[in-house]
Amino acid sequence: MKVYPKPIFHSVPGYEIVMEFIEPSVKLHGFIAVHSTKRGPALGGTRIWKYDHRESALTDVLRLAKGMTFKAAGADLSLGGGKAVLIGDAKSIKSPAYFETYGHYVHLLKGQYITAEDVNTTSADMMHIAKQTPHVVGRVGKSGNPSPFTALGVFYGIQASVAFALPKKKLQDLSFAIQGVGQTGTFLIDLLIEAGVGNITIADINPTNVEFITKKYPQLKVVSQEWIMRLPVEVFSPCALGGIINDASLDQMQAKIVAGSANNILLDDKIHGPKAMEKGILIAPDFIINAGGLINVYHEHHSDYQQAEVKEEIKRIGQRLTRIYQMAKKDHIDPFAAATVYANQQLK
Ligand code: NAD
Repeated sequence: MKVYPKPIFHSVPGYEIVMEFIEPSVKLHGFIAVHSTKRGPALGGTRIWKYDHRESALTDVLRLAKGMTFKAAGADLSLGGGKAVLIGDAKSIKSPAYFETYGHYVHLLKGQYITAEDVNTTSADMMHIAKQTPHVVGRVGKSGNPSPFTALGVFYGIQASVAFALPKKKLQDLSFAIQGVGQTGTFLIDLLIEAGVGNITIADINPTNVEFITKKYPQLKVVSQEWIMRLPVEVFSPCALGGIINDASLDQMQAKIVAGSANNILLDDKIHGPKAMEKGILIAPDFIINAGGLINVYHEHHSDYQQAEVKEEIKRIGQRLTRIYQMAKKDHIDPFAAATVYANQQLK
């Protein structure tokens, strides 16, 4: 039987578990952080990234794990918050042995942490992890790729945001700007086009992704990444990066609604949430609108996976957002602050 190096457990205030593991023979070095298991086991993806330092990986895993606690609570799921980051270049580091070794460390936590895919990991990688532990979701033949489900939640969230901010307008008459046409961005475009939306402008730094989607839908307009946030559209949908709502972008933004899949879109939620509200821009709180993928994997873990049930539950993202917008309006706070109050109530 293979003997693995023992992991190191770090004590970090506010976190239940922070585990670091190193297995040089497969070039594995990473962290698993469990922020909270108050509502259930901590579910969160495994990210592979070329961190410059061990400390940046640790900072990232702590931030991401805490975010998952809020996302699960905000989606009313019986789950806690956790995340894993693995340090390295995904292009060269991945191998079946790498993921099997990582699966051993996931298994040591006895189900307090359940892993799934994230940046640079796929459903196929989850299959290798599953050889060592049952505490993994998003497997091939089960719930699979979460991105179409995240996009579906964003679509319902856009409908709810339009109904709240522009009640007299029909979705198909609105103009859209989409930043990022990767996984979630392209699935969202499918849904918008199916709903009859004709006026969509996109931007992406990866020409291959632009080519793919414009071949499929030649009616899409393309602008450079500098312009996508400044367009005079009704809906701006961030489906790429975090931190994009900041002083500079808010000064130039003409969109009435910001609603997309990207995580952590407000550079500083205390500053940029209220500033957007003052400008009359409705921002859909990211951890509420992008929870569709989490809802999907939750069903793989908690029940006999039925896609129809998952889709019904994802529909509730729209209703939840409407409730949050109403709360925000009543209490004169911005929607992100209202969503945080909502999630905190679920955590009591
Ligand atoms: P992805 O990598 O498939 O797509 C992101 C796209 O954005 C890529 O095409 C990339 O080239 C592009 N991009 C990067 N920087 C850009 C820039 N400056 N301007 C324009 N385009 C740029 O990722 P994804 O899975 O679609 O996820 C997008 C966002 O949604 C991320 O923030 C992710 O954390 C978040 N998210 C994704 C899911 C999911 O299910 N995939 C779930 C929740 C949240």
